[in-house]
Amino acid sequence: MTEASIPPGSAARLAVGPLHGIAGSPGVVIATALVLEAGRGNVPRRTIIREEIPLELERYRDAVDEAKAQIGEVHGRVAQKLPAEHLQILEAYQAMLGDPALATSVQREIKDKLRNCEWAVEIAVQQMTREFDMMDDPYLRERKHDVAFVGDRLQRALALSVPTSIGVIRVSQPPGMKPIRRPTPPLGVRVAQPTIIVAHDLSPADTAAMIREPIVGIVTEVGTRTSHTAIMARALEIPAVVGVTGVLEHVRTGDTVVVDGLRGEVLVRPSTEAADRARERGDRHLSRTQQLRQRTREPTTLACGTPMSLLANVELPTEALLAIEHGAEGIGLYRTEFLYIDRKDLPSEDEQYELYRTIVQMVSPRPVTLRTFDLGGDKFAASIPMPEEMNPALGLRSVRLALRERGIFLTQLRAMIRAAAHGEVRVMVPMVASLTELREVRQLLDRAIDEVRAAKKEFGHTPLGVMIEVPAAAVCADLFAREAAFFSLGTNDLVQYTLAVDRSSQGLASLASPFDPSVLRLARFTAQAAMNADIPMSVCGAMASDPLAALLLVGLGIRTLSMEAAAIAEIKETLRRVTLEECEQIAEEAMTKDTAVAVELCIAEYFAPRLSDILGGDDETPPPVPART
Ligand code: PEP
Ligand code: MG
Repeated sequence: MTEASIPPGSAARLAVGPLHGIAGSPGVVIATALVLEAGRGNVPRRTIIREEIPLELERYRDAVDEAKAQIGEVHGRVAQKLPAEHLQILEAYQAMLGDPALATSVQREIKDKLRNCEWAVEIAVQQMTREFDMMDDPYLRERKHDVAFVGDRLQRALALSVPTSIGVIRVSQPPGMKPIRRPTPPLGVRVAQPTIIVAHDLSPADTAAMIREPIVGIVTEVGTRTSHTAIMARALEIPAVVGVTGVLEHVRTGDTVVVDGLRGEVLVRPSTEAADRARERGDRHLSRTQQLRQRTREPTTLACGTPMSLLANVELPTEALLAIEHGAEGIGLYRTEFLYIDRKDLPSEDEQYELYRTIVQMVSPRPVTLRTFDLGGDKFAASIPMPEEMNPALGLRSVRLALRERGIFLTQLRAMIRAAAHGEVRVMVPMVASLTELREVRQLLDRAIDEVRAAKKEFGHTPLGVMIEVPAAAVCADLFAREAAFFSLGTNDLVQYTLAVDRSSQGLASLASPFDPSVLRLARFTAQAAMNADIPMSVCGAMASDPLAALLLVGLGIRTLSMEAAAIAEIKETLRRVTLEECEQIAEEAMTKDTAVAVELCIAEYFAPRLSDILGGDDETPPPVPART
């Protein structure tokens, strides 16, 4: 059914697909797309059809008005504070925006060359810049920068108006680019009806904002199962397909799209039959999930009676209650960094305390593991300035940032220990690579206790544990086990750092397998170190919510798994069907294999037949058994 040869923007709006990506979050949904094109970081270029000319001309007029209004607003704000020559620059920008030569040039590109408005502006601005650049007068030559600025303002204004088959939709803020090294404000998209967001990428803040919108599906050009868009989509139970290369060339806002988060496929403008089939598959998945969830309150045991503990990972406080409803026996990972992301200022101690306390009381008597902020990498806070880094995942991230920004860190620690007065709270530190870091955190925790005591505020005991997600920590797990109160294996980062594969790269996703022998050796060594030191250990990376991987972890000695709440029912059912002896035996055999595929095959061959309903995701798809290599 693929008709990928149809040029983007062509009059023929035929079905396209299936487009293949990575199944980011399960479920099948069909709805109207809202395309956030600006995320590619380039100007969206599209050949239009004649009927679209008036629409694109209107967008230009609107963009000029919007850009003028924005500059006028700045002018008003600074009029009293800046000298006259600065204000004249702003006035010059406004005059340039209204320049008839620019307008004529843009209109020509739209009408004669059938370019969309953004493309037309890009070309017109380039021409003008070139003309200024060729001038002899150095003052006039420098004006090329002003022209570029004006072009940028126009592009930003155009990003506010999204052309669709049903007219121009205006959004409240430009669809921002993924923050590479700095935060962008959340998209601020307002939608009134069930909508599928199609974007190059979404920042963690963008995805978090989706909870407030009727977003029923997500498709992104980049990303993997362990990138934050997918993690968040699973938490919010929004079907998602990520890493769909080139999808933006085929989808336009207003198109009907099928997001198949079970198969990792996207259908654009599907035929009635294909849409009906997708709907049926979605319904089957839903009823199967509901069936599984009926038993989710029952205790988790293996078929042999061995008790297991399933906890939830949460990103947003609202998820905590949902986690309990899904049968979680506590919160194994609360990603507190989301508190810092979607705002301009820092959360105060009292604000954090109130929030942590609410969660602790909601979940009590079950335990809550509060992870100290894991900012940096691909999650940034506007309130914490960060350096531009070539490799942010290897840079000032997590505990490294916390130890650099001690004031901010201490504020968080004080809020956490105060929340511990209301229930069982554990504090967990991400991305620890050396014992020195853990010791420094302990000192700061002690200082936070002294400060809270001096302020005569109530507080509770908080065991201090570490995430084992950097290979250095895993290979020294025996040393860490002497000083950490507990371990939690972060397989998302452990896989990334062990195999040197960017966890958000869809192109390399096949190399980033949690079944890789190197990862298994680190996991086993860590589990043994925890067992020898008699400290609790859990796994909170995405490996825990993969049925086959979860069985392998059980075989390696893990008894506590923490995952997105929506996955608990499925993993619980998986565990009920196997015995400890089987898991240990298969894990033993898996440890002798020399490639990720061989390991996965070994587990799948043994367990998949009895898990076909769970692994298949729907009745049509056979369970995934990896090909032999
Ligand atoms: C991990 O790295 O496995 C993990 C659970 O933490 P995060 O996904 O937030 O980096
Ligand atoms: Mg991590």
